[in-house]
Amino acid sequence: MKKNIFKTVIISLIIFMSISISFVYGQSKALILQEMSWVDVQEYLKNNDMVIIPLGSTEQHGPHMPLGTDCYEAFGMSKLISKQTGVIVAPVLWSGYSVYHSGFPGTLSLKPETMEQVLFETAEMLMKYGFRRFMFFNYHGGNNIVQQKVIHRINHTTEAVAFAIGHGSAIQKSGEGEFFDWHAGKGETSIMLYLKPELVKKEQIENPQITFTPKVEQLYNLAKQDQLLLNVAGLYLGVPVETKKGGASHELSSNGIWSFSDVKSASKEIGKKTVDRMVNAAVKFIEAWKQVKK
Ligand SMILES: [Zn+2]
Repeated sequence: MKKNIFKTVIISLIIFMSISISFVYGQSKALILQEMSWVDVQEYLKNNDMVIIPLGSTEQHGPHMPLGTDCYEAFGMSKLISKQTGVIVAPVLWSGYSVYHSGFPGTLSLKPETMEQVLFETAEMLMKYGFRRFMFFNYHGGNNIVQQKVIHRINHTTEAVAFAIGHGSAIQKSGEGEFFDWHAGKGETSIMLYLKPELVKKEQIENPQITFTPKVEQLYNLAKQDQLLLNVAGLYLGVPVETKKGGASHELSSNGIWSFSDVKSASKEIGKKTVDRMVNAAVKFIEAWKQVKK
């Protein structure tokens, strides 16, 4: 009898301890590399080799949102994913490839090859300690091509594997949201109203005047019947002024917002929906991948 009580006490203690551990390292708090000590990292690596690297930008986001909007989005969602999965979030890249927004002051940009190198060297250092599964959470369209290059380089030249889990990635649904609401518009403003409301100047929200070149106008109108042509229209938009395609940010938008939606109708409820959808998709994916041990 006594033996049984002893056994029960030990089992409850083990259960209690594992719940506490998962509370600290799993579901309660996001694991941010900069906030951890090397001992924490060493401990983490005993059971896990996954890491999330958010990719953002410092670029104009209309008159009402901060230049760091994409960073707050990428980092904000990565933190929520970390809270639920216990995967470490490594430093957010505060600058991305954004040169075509530079008609508006404050925008910073790295050349694609610089950005690729920074990300690759970051991954290389993390590999040294045992990280083997890299997930990039990007929230800036201009970074996509660099993200693809880094992922390819990691997958083809190192022991590690890399995968995209952010905006536009294979695990996220595409084609949602309004027809042309690409930058600093209703969708993004809603996300910021949910994730970082103190940085949104609601009284400054103003719908933009959009100016398309005749070619883009034609493609855009055709895309209403055949959505795929919107991708072609996109090739003329968000490109440096030197390309003479009329697609630099200040050429196509009066105030930096790229949207035909009513930006004033943005709300934190809409933002929460988008954030929940993206975070849940990533959490589901990570939990599935976690079944394969390190
Ligand atoms: Zn953005």
